Amino acid sequence: QDDKFKKVISHAKEYGYVFQSSEIYDGLSAVYDYAQNGAELKKNIRDYWWKAMVQMNENIVGIDAAIFMHPTTWKASGHVDAFNDPLIDNKDSKKRYRADVLIEDYCAKIEVKIDKEVKKAEKRFGDSFNKDEFVSTNGRVVGYQEKINTILSRMARSLESEDLADVKLLIEELEIADPLTGSKNWTDVKQFNLMFGTKLGASAETAMDLYLRPETAQGIFVNFLNVQKTGRMKIPFGIAQTGKAFRNEIVARQFIFRMREFEQMEMQFFIKPGTQGEWYKHWKEHRMKWHLSLGMGEDNYRFHDHEKLAHYADAAADIEFKFPFGFKELEGIHSRTDFDLKAHEEHSGKKLQYFDHEENKSYTPYVLETSIGLDRMFLAVFSNALQEEELENGTTRTVLKLPSVLAPVKAAILPLVKKDGLPEIAREIVGELKWDFNVIYDEKDAVGRRYRRQDANGTPFCITVDHDTKEDKMVTIRHRDTMEQQRVKIEELRTIIKEEVDV
Ligand code: ATP
Repeated sequence: QDDKFKKVISHAKEYGYVFQSSEIYDGLSAVYDYAQNGAELKKNIRDYWWKAMVQMNENIVGIDAAIFMHPTTWKASGHVDAFNDPLIDNKDSKKRYRADVLIEDYCAKIEVKIDKEVKKAEKRFGDSFNKDEFVSTNGRVVGYQEKINTILSRMARSLESEDLADVKLLIEELEIADPLTGSKNWTDVKQFNLMFGTKLGASAETAMDLYLRPETAQGIFVNFLNVQKTGRMKIPFGIAQTGKAFRNEIVARQFIFRMREFEQMEMQFFIKPGTQGEWYKHWKEHRMKWHLSLGMGEDNYRFHDHEKLAHYADAAADIEFKFPFGFKELEGIHSRTDFDLKAHEEHSGKKLQYFDHEENKSYTPYVLETSIGLDRMFLAVFSNALQEEELENGTTRTVLKLPSVLAPVKAAILPLVKKDGLPEIAREIVGELKWDFNVIYDEKDAVGRRYRRQDANGTPFCITVDHDTKEDKMVTIRHRDTMEQQRVKIEELRTIIKEEVDV
């Protein structure tokens, strides 16, 4: 598993997807740059989300609010007082860790054991194997599961009570060691605020303390009434937004899973109080459908319903994805009640209410939120796509099986040789296709090597121009996943590619 993750990171670099930020200065921890292919993949994921949320829903509109917000915003939202992580230091190594993550990692190791038991049983029972039944009746698995549950609920209780002594005790009892040095010499657990501070204004006396936004949601809440009025929106309706958010994360060793500067795709859905139960269910289902529509495997997703709720929520669930290091949160669906709008009313002194013409009364709407990290989605897509396949001739090929709709480059156009007029025909095809798709031209190396390069790059199609093309106006189109090749007319290319990459 570690191995797979290392391959993901090195492949992302080698093929121009993700680079360490400021690499020539030895990098900046937990900050990354998206390279030529990564920027395209990221944009395609963002567009895929925007299309599903904004374009396809008449009652959802999109905005683009500023990163800087009035500092009172973060008082109202609770981030000044309660946006903390529980930290613990190792006295020997002087390294700092998130106490909750140390405990969660410990539980993830138990989960790996469960996985192993399931796989073993699957092999033994073959077709008659029923996973749900096995997991709920096998003594060893049930024991593991109970252990995880006990640990997590004890941790949740302690974090909620703000008495963090039990979190430390838990770490000691489980004999959790510093992952880097193995030392078990821990300090007490302390809370640490995750917001980045900065200053607005030129002189020291007049400068105003600001925060870089730690989430995009508040830009939506403070604009709720502006959008509702100018867009003449009727409840239920949603406001969506994508954009950068910043958190001074302490545990920063999981590549783009947890970054200090990252991008969120959030949607706040404003509803009538009392209807949150049905909308919570609705958005859980819809968001899961969105994920499954990418064809990345149903087994790679699961819901995690929260027992411990944040101060603003009356129900919350995560959509978890099976990353190379195990199942982890990819997206959150939160029923936030009227917490945010009420808090902003209180701190701003402005009413943020909706007048319901049918009911002939005003109220503060309730909110359902869907919140997904764009970078985390990128990691899910990229790590799931990266595969090594044994071929019939005994060799292996590295292939990045990205969903075609998300692939940075849709087709590579390859002249079989660099002469006899073939490059010119290939360039002409590029000239036509580039109006509709991101395509590239490649003439370097033997065609087999070019195919492999495009496989590893995630390009769904290779289109080869050969000597016959001059006569019959046909080319060979090769499919990345099956490696099947077809002879097709040049004029059909657009339709063939469109069918595969459009949604
Ligand atoms: P975690 O528990 O993993 O820190 P969270 O519960 O704090 O995440 P939310 O505040 O609910 O996360 O943010 C919504 C989404 O934003 C998350 O589901 C995740 O995809 C993404 N996200 C949050 N923090 C980061 C980060 N530091 N780097 C990348 N993505 C992030």
